[in-house]
Amino acid sequence: MVSTDWKSDLRQRGYRLTPQRQLVLEAVDALEHATPEDILCEVRKTASGVNISTVYRTLELLEELGLVSHAHIGHGAPKYHLAGRDHHIHLVCRDCQDVIETDVDIAADFAARLDEAFGFTTDMRHFAIFGMCRDCKQAKAAQAEAARGEAAQATEGGAEAS
Ligand SMILES: [Zn+2]
Ligand SMILES: [Zn+2]
Ligand SMILES: [Zn+2]
Repeated sequence: MVSTDWKSDLRQRGYRLTPQRQLVLEAVDALEHATPEDILCEVRKTASGVNISTVYRTLELLEELGLVSHAHIGHGAPKYHLAGRDHHIHLVCRDCQDVIETDVDIAADFAARLDEAFGFTTDMRHFAIFGMCRDCKQAKAAQAEAARGEAAQATEGGAEAS
């Protein structure tokens, strides 16, 4: 169930994780877009004594080791994933909080222009792009349509009454 490449990778680098740290890493592996709270919940299924500050410290260490990284997707806590796994841009809908994942290639032109203009290499994955998804836009348009219909009916009704 758990991918073992990071285990052999660590062993090769002469590093051994304590069981607690390993549990945190396994939780990051098992969950997707996991907040420290999510990770704590998962770890506590096995080790009930672990607290949130241990999870934070461990995530920091694992990030230094290059095993996990994080992205800011919503307004809340950063979301953790195994390093190298989350290679996409997150599009977050402000209305329904839906998260669309898209390949970084979609922003290739934009990244190239930033590089040209500023010599700046962009990490598109670290922060999400906020906006409105197609479904919410369609729902809004339908609502506006319905409201226009009602307004038209109301004026017709008014005309009849006079
Ligand atoms: Zn960050
Ligand atoms: Zn993601
Ligand atoms: Zn939406």
